[in-house]
Amino acid sequence: MAFYRGITTNAPSGGVNYEKLELDLDGFEVRLKPLLTGICGTDRGIVNGALPFAYNPHGFSRLVIGHESLCKVEDAPKNDFGISSGDYVVPMVRRPGKCINCFAGRSDNCSDGDKHEAGITGLHGFMREEFGDSAQYLVKVPDPSIGDVAVLTEPLKNVEKAFEMFDVVSKKSIFTDGAGSYHEKNSLVVGTGSEAFLYALKSMDYGFNTYLTNRHDLDVTKNELIDKTGINFYNYNNNDPLEKNGLDLVIDTSGDPATIFRFMRRMKENGILILFGTNGKAPATQVDGMDIDYIIERNISIIGSVDGSRIHYERAIQDITRWKHQYHGALETMITEKVSPDHTEIFTKKPSNEIKTVIQWS
Ligand code: NAP
Ligand code: ZN
Repeated sequence: MAFYRGITTNAPSGGVNYEKLELDLDGFEVRLKPLLTGICGTDRGIVNGALPFAYNPHGFSRLVIGHESLCKVEDAPKNDFGISSGDYVVPMVRRPGKCINCFAGRSDNCSDGDKHEAGITGLHGFMREEFGDSAQYLVKVPDPSIGDVAVLTEPLKNVEKAFEMFDVVSKKSIFTDGAGSYHEKNSLVVGTGSEAFLYALKSMDYGFNTYLTNRHDLDVTKNELIDKTGINFYNYNNNDPLEKNGLDLVIDTSGDPATIFRFMRRMKENGILILFGTNGKAPATQVDGMDIDYIIERNISIIGSVDGSRIHYERAIQDITRWKHQYHGALETMITEKVSPDHTEIFTKKPSNEIKTVIQWS
């Protein structure tokens, strides 16, 4: 046993501390030091006691939080996964349970809920000075010169999984033009948080005419990101540039039922609606028989998508590497602030211009 400092909570009731914890690194072949850990709404939800599904590891009265991270390998014995000392890696969040999907390496599709999530459900997370892990759960960043933006791998892997679902479902009809491109097709991403921007970049990769929307205008930092990437944005309370064209792909990151159905009612034939945002506290909305008819008559497909597996982490690293060169300086704009681990107020006060705040460990 050794003592390491980490950012902890008492799940699910909440609270936050940067404190020393006695943690056993035995049994883990690889020793890791985090360089950066990203903060997302889930971390804040756990700290605020708003996520009843979060729980401490067995035998612990504290949970180390944090699931978005970029780490350096301090020490690794020879292993089958090509992980060596000095490598930069992103640890995977979900750890398998005993179901057939978990067994097949797809704990993102766990079929009985028996998986664990680091920093969320029963497993210590990555916001700590040092930790141990198994090589099989580490995804190598082949070109560490991509730098800090590699910390966006974990949030982007969710997007990669959702687009894998899109690839499967879009085969239902002739969705592309004759040349196999999505040119002239409209995609709308609802919400303007970090996940929404990553969805919009992926949607542009496909060739969609891509829009982001929210119920208010954007701040200076997000406008800068819009300028650097060429993503379109509109405030849906002011105007609606897509009114006459309809929507082929809608991706919701707001979790707000009324907003989801507002845009669902604008979708075209064979459209695909991806539900990604979660907000258990969002107010109820009314859905009537006409809405159901609308979905059926137009062959609209609705996809719910959570998490991602190794292949999605790997695709995320590839996309980050390419986007870094394609959109000079844009991905860097997404990291709006770097704070030290003892700056725990960051979990209770979200900075007004935040896209992605990260904790810098070394
Ligand atoms: P975030 O920064 O909180 O993004 C949510 C966005 O939705 C914000 O831009 C928010 O706008 C916007 N929004 C809220 N209500 C809206 C409305 N009525 N109309 C339009 N926009 C609205 O969170 P994130 O990190 O990007 O994540 C996005 C969502 O995905 C969160 O709900 C998160 O819990 C969820 N998530 C899901 C998965 C998964 O695997 N399915 C994984 C990670 C995260 P404001 O600017 O006004 O706040
Ligand atoms: Zn499972």
